[in-house]
Amino acid sequence: MAYAAILSSTQQLAIALSGTQTQITLMISNPGQQQSLSSSFSTGKWISPPKLFKVGASFVLQIDTESGSHYVQIQQNSISTIDALSSTDDYPLVKLQDIPEPSQKSVEVKPMQPIQPMKMGDMSMDLNSMSMQMGKMAMSLSNQAKTTVTEQFCSQCGIKAKASDRFCRSCGHELNK
Ligand SMILES: [Zn+2]
Repeated sequence: MAYAAILSSTQQLAIALSGTQTQITLMISNPGQQQSLSSSFSTGKWISPPKLFKVGASFVLQIDTESGSHYVQIQQNSISTIDALSSTDDYPLVKLQDIPEPSQKSVEVKPMQPIQPMKMGDMSMDLNSMSMQMGKMAMSLSNQAKTTVTEQFCSQCGIKAKASDRFCRSCGHELNK
């Protein structure tokens, strides 16, 4: 689970859960300067999405986990844990955006409606099987890559055999020849 929030025009916050560790990253971008502050806390697994409150000039993140609620204060240039927030009802909530897991970020397939195989010249793309072909280059994101041989046929009698078979079950002809 990962969330992001825009704190100000120059500050962006990212919250991610990795195992039982909550990782909080504060990204500060000033003209000509990019800064990133990261802190990791052992919080346990989240039981609900974290909440972010605006408390005066700073922000307080409430993380509800199986071991209880944790509070993290985010100030101009620091991230620190605090014991509790006196009354969360009085503070405005900052909207958190659900962001995809970092591991999914590398795959950028734009959603298309309706999803149909696409063909342009020698380039073809099939979003249903998550495979793409560009000239001689082929890419497949599905679990069963096209190069994986799961079955074969006997060259002698044509009967279907498993990829692991060395000899044909029907005629005994040596396979993979
Ligand atoms: Zn055979």
